[in-house]
Amino acid sequence: MGASSESKPAGPALLILDSPAFLQLHRLPPLERELLTTPQVVSEAVSAEARIRVAQAAWAGGKVRIAAPGKVGLARAGRAAARIGETKLSAADMSVLALALETGARVATDDYALQNACRAAGVGFVPLAQKGIASERKYSFACIGCGKAFPPGKAVCDECGNPVERRILRGKVGPSGGP
Ligand SMILES: [Zn+2]
Repeated sequence: MGASSESKPAGPALLILDSPAFLQLHRLPPLERELLTTPQVVSEAVSAEARIRVAQAAWAGGKVRIAAPGKVGLARAGRAAARIGETKLSAADMSVLALALETGARVATDDYALQNACRAAGVGFVPLAQKGIASERKYSFACIGCGKAFPPGKAVCDECGNPVERRILRGKVGPSGGP
């Protein structure tokens, strides 16, 4: 290689889209960057309209590439989501996070749960229609009857039989956000 004077943008210009993001394509910055999504997003597209847009976008000049994340990326994504107790992620969301971890791309999404998991995993995200979360949310899971704490995934308390509820543990939000 010779000339180092060539000006290439630093860092990846990749963006990975979740399926609602395809309805907000007009809000994206100019598409000189490559767009990526996953097969899981395509098959889990939330509405027929989104599905059509996904297909259109994929076929319009090859600007959207569909790539599947590998096992390693999926495992890393799973660990990041588990660490903060983020249980509201679909298989498509997890695939987007996994692909972002593998490619260094940012994620284009308005889904707060996915944004939250991105933050926990150290993945950048771009909100489209909404403003985006200001700080990472952590969750705790506790019985609404006796208050016993559980790890994520438990629906019913094994002490008293009451439902286990997810609560947001605030990190550093707002000026005086004590419970
Ligand atoms: Zn209980």
